[in-house]
Amino acid sequence: MDTTYDYIIAGSGTAGCVLANRLSKDGANSVCLIEAGPPDTSPLVHVPAAVGALLFHKKMAWGYKTAPQAALGGREIPVPRGRVLGGCSSTNGMVYFRGQPQDFDDWSGMGNTGWSYREVLPYFIRSEKNEQFGDSPYHGKDGPMVVSDVNRYNPLIDTFLAAAYSLGYPRCSDFNAADPNGFNTRQGNIHNGRRVSGVTAYLDPIKYRQNLKILTNTLVTRIILKQGRAVGLEMNIAGAIHKLTARREIILAAGAFGSPQILMLSGIGDGQELQSLGIVVQHELREVGRNFHDHPAIGIIMKTENTESYGVSLKAFPRGVWNVIEYLLFRRGPLASNLFEAMGFLRTIEGLDRPDIQFVFQPATRPTPRFPIPVGHGYAMNPVLLYPKSRGRVTLASPDPHAMPVIDPNLLAEQEDMETMIRAVRMSRKILNAPAFDRYASVERLPGSERQDDESLRDYVRQYVATVHHPVSTCRMGGDATSVVDPELRVRGIEGLRVADASIFPRIIGGNTNAAVVMVAEKASDLILGLPSPEPIDIAE
Ligand SMILES: Cc1cc2nc3c(=O)[nH]c(=O)nc-3n(C[C@H](O)[C@H](O)[C@H](O)COP(=O)(O)OP(=O)(O)OC[C@H]3O[C@@H](n4cnc5c(N)ncnc54)[C@H](O)[C@@H]3O)c2cc1C
Repeated sequence: MDTTYDYIIAGSGTAGCVLANRLSKDGANSVCLIEAGPPDTSPLVHVPAAVGALLFHKKMAWGYKTAPQAALGGREIPVPRGRVLGGCSSTNGMVYFRGQPQDFDDWSGMGNTGWSYREVLPYFIRSEKNEQFGDSPYHGKDGPMVVSDVNRYNPLIDTFLAAAYSLGYPRCSDFNAADPNGFNTRQGNIHNGRRVSGVTAYLDPIKYRQNLKILTNTLVTRIILKQGRAVGLEMNIAGAIHKLTARREIILAAGAFGSPQILMLSGIGDGQELQSLGIVVQHELREVGRNFHDHPAIGIIMKTENTESYGVSLKAFPRGVWNVIEYLLFRRGPLASNLFEAMGFLRTIEGLDRPDIQFVFQPATRPTPRFPIPVGHGYAMNPVLLYPKSRGRVTLASPDPHAMPVIDPNLLAEQEDMETMIRAVRMSRKILNAPAFDRYASVERLPGSERQDDESLRDYVRQYVATVHHPVSTCRMGGDATSVVDPELRVRGIEGLRVADASIFPRIIGGNTNAAVVMVAEKASDLILGLPSPEPIDIAE
């Protein structure tokens, strides 16, 4: 194996796959992509409906959980993260949403020159091959990542949308255009009934390149620094330590937990804390691991005797068998879907400049962590708090690179977060109890009809709130000197080292994070290669 590369990328998740493709495009650049997990050969990765089986998979997930959450009575919450080629893009829910346009204008307003919506829109377009909206000025049709509509949605979706519209909520014709507001079916990263991941979109088509080396089952343990420059890294392969040298740059794309963890293991972080763990401080950068936040969400779950929803039951058994055959023969039907077939964005208070809740509807009851397929019938709404005020931290528990980091999102520490969630629960209930749903004669399983006043709903939220797996900002990008990376994603104070993944988000965006991570990595590759930015796009409405 070569031990020297121009560019070394740590982590082959959503961002790592994009970077490996773009940086190795010029055959003169040698690139090494390193992934802790195995290759993505399991069929579970590729069949969309198998998503639930990946969350806590023994070999393809990290098995993280949060630290005890102070505002939730000490609860610890499971944190699924992909540990496989493709990272979370190989294990996620496949919903395609870019964020609210204002989110990126906010990023730019926080001193991140070059990151406004009109400046990042070309990168969203460049990454995308949108089957429905390819000709819209907001979309792309020639990019590597297929975005498609739901192939055949469950009948409950029409009921859900009719319920939302009957309450006066608008229909959103395209969630990824100027104004993501209102309800509709979602688009997703699914093509011909199979998951579109970072690997299938960005790596598979180019893995023959002679100048690209992909290492799996390889844990990056430390960046090697020499006089303020990242010159190489150490990695563990089957228990043995190996070293690689970088001629140009090392790019951390190990995600919102992995990237700060590698920085801290390398002596870059809060000096006092690193010293207390016996790690030699190489560079004081206090914000590494700070500013951590994620999207909290809470389920409203309805149970019904009607068997139209997805789910396993005796009555629905023949249909289930047909659905498997249908998928094997034609790659369509429920197995080609991800459960989350419709959604909406609304303001819980009039006058807000953008929606503060995403309502994710699933025509199925909740699967349990132990059994990833919904048993019985029903439907559920998951309101997601888009702009949480609470901030947590990711820290090291130990200098051992194999140890799990301490993941403390500090969920709902700010009272305002709780109050927005309560408003969202009430709005969800209104939709789920609209006359359009009458024929299902459903019963509210959770929170349960006995929980009506604010205090009992707060109790419910404390007991059941979880996140929707969008951790960000642990290596915050900023124009200020205290940020971890500058607006060109260079780690402050260290030469030859960048971070490009969800950890650099200056602040969380108002929706699912995968597409924005792809955008970050697309832009990062131009920055790394010194290519000019594309012309900003202004679309006249
Ligand atoms: C269950 C789940 C459902 C989701 N659903 C959606 C959705 O429907 N839509 C959406 O837009 N977003 C969704 N997301 C979020 C989205 O997938 C992530 O925001 C995105 O994938 C993050 O990309 P990343 O490159 O920052 O990190 P990751 O994709 O997590 O990649 C990091 C990679 O680095 C590897 N790594 C970490 N540490 C090391 C190390 N020391 N050495 C070597 N390799 C290392 C990891 O194994 C991983 O492969 C979901 C996420 C999850 C987990």
